[in-house]
Amino acid sequence: MATYTETPVRELPFIAGAPREPHSTTTFEAVNPANGEVIAHVADCDAVDIDRAVQASVAAQREWMSWDAGRRVGVLLRFADAVERHRDVLGETDTRNMGRVLREAQGDGAASARLIRYWAGQVDRMTGHQIPANPGHLSYTTREPLGVIGVIMPWNGPVGSFCSRVAPAIACGNAAVVKPSEMSPLSALRLAALLSEAGAPEGLVNVVTGGGATGAALAEHPGVGGVTFTGSVPTGRRIAHAAAETFKKTVLELGGKSPNIVFEDADLDAAGRGAVWGVFNNAGQVCVAGTRLLVQRSIAPAFIEQLARRAERIRVGDPMDAKTHMGPLASRQQFERVSHYLQIARDEGARVLSGGGRPQGAHSDGLFVEPTVLTEVSQSMRVAREEIFGPVLSVIVFEDEEEAVSLANDVEYGLSANIWTRDLGRMHRMAERIQAGTVWGNTMRLHHPTLWFGGIKASGQGSAYAEGAIEGATRVRRVTIRFDETAPMPAWNDLNV
Ligand code: NAD
Repeated sequence: MATYTETPVRELPFIAGAPREPHSTTTFEAVNPANGEVIAHVADCDAVDIDRAVQASVAAQREWMSWDAGRRVGVLLRFADAVERHRDVLGETDTRNMGRVLREAQGDGAASARLIRYWAGQVDRMTGHQIPANPGHLSYTTREPLGVIGVIMPWNGPVGSFCSRVAPAIACGNAAVVKPSEMSPLSALRLAALLSEAGAPEGLVNVVTGGGATGAALAEHPGVGGVTFTGSVPTGRRIAHAAAETFKKTVLELGGKSPNIVFEDADLDAAGRGAVWGVFNNAGQVCVAGTRLLVQRSIAPAFIEQLARRAERIRVGDPMDAKTHMGPLASRQQFERVSHYLQIARDEGARVLSGGGRPQGAHSDGLFVEPTVLTEVSQSMRVAREEIFGPVLSVIVFEDEEEAVSLANDVEYGLSANIWTRDLGRMHRMAERIQAGTVWGNTMRLHHPTLWFGGIKASGQGSAYAEGAIEGATRVRRVTIRFDETAPMPAWNDLNV
């Protein structure tokens, strides 16, 4: 597998089991955000390339479903082993492509292998029901694949995003066309090759690189039965519109502005550690980052001070260095977006308690931003309401449970929420009243393949995990057979001849 010793390389889309010359002749650069180095020239594929990939998927899906379930399980298990074996180079690929610290990027491969094995275990569990509805009849349902799933990915956790979307799609009997983000396309190309080597039919999973137009061509393609999209709210809206034209099923995992609510009776040390990791990990480029710290007034001064001290100890720098906590932002565009929000915060009157600029000693071409804590934030400010997707924490003080609920729910998003309290009654009351698809109590961002994960409100619909992924990748067929000829039958039964 390529380790990028000879850079920059030319990257081709992976279609029908191999890298193929694309129809499109344009390319874009993959850039290392830690130092500005161009590491690859990547094909900017067009609608013709998407169509080729969909055609390859259609044929491969038929072959895939003609195989015995045990053989399909074998492919998934070998793929999981390969992801685990290659996790170091996969992690390095992501780190060099989008700046996530190497230790965590490599951890993503191990977690992904675990998730793929979970889906291998689901292959022969795509069952329907037998329903005792009408005497003399057999009624049953079957669960069927949609055919081809379009997977459109963001850039913030490329290996994990690929595996967590592709594994359920193929476990449910589909083929997939993956459009990775133009900011981090490289690991998806490696993963598709590994899946092919694991014995998948040629074309079962294709990777077509490109930007928004390539994604749009995939979402619009009539040969695609479902789209699983992970990304921003505006793009999610466009995809939902495109999918509606041909009635595709969609799973939409969109943005967030997740509240992290700390009550005075919480384990404040754990809450402090959780709050800092929960917002600054991956330089804040995490959909469920706890970007709004809601802290109860009685403990606010001490808690905020503790938080700022922790934030100042975060080591920002070279993501390849094992001691680094936080790397650069993933792209110039993201760097400018976060810098713009820091200016908005100042203009709106928020106080920059810590951070707020470029870290000292950072590579001059690196896209680094300090972990930033904003205080004196009010609910009406943009930094309290809009997703920044960077290392910026907005702190808001509340009086009581009622106010915490009202602040937590007063945004368009509903992805996740975190609650810290030792009062069990309060924990359950809050969990019930907060508008979020996932609620964590006294912990943050804990995932598991068996657990639903999805947003509500503008944060999306459905779940790419657990039962939601099956729902999003399959449809149900009902069959009713009258086996008893004496059983009543709906017809004009008086038309005797
Ligand atoms: P984005 O919406 O800009 O892009 C996501 C993907 O959509 C990219 O591959 C892009 O090329 C593609 N795209 C752009 N325009 C398109 C169009 N018109 N049709 C089809 N595809 C199109 O998002 P991003 O900046 O890459 O990712 C950050 C966002 O993703 C944040 O909002 C974050 O919260 C969200 N996110 C959500 C989850 C989740 O599970 N809920 C996970 C990770 C990231």
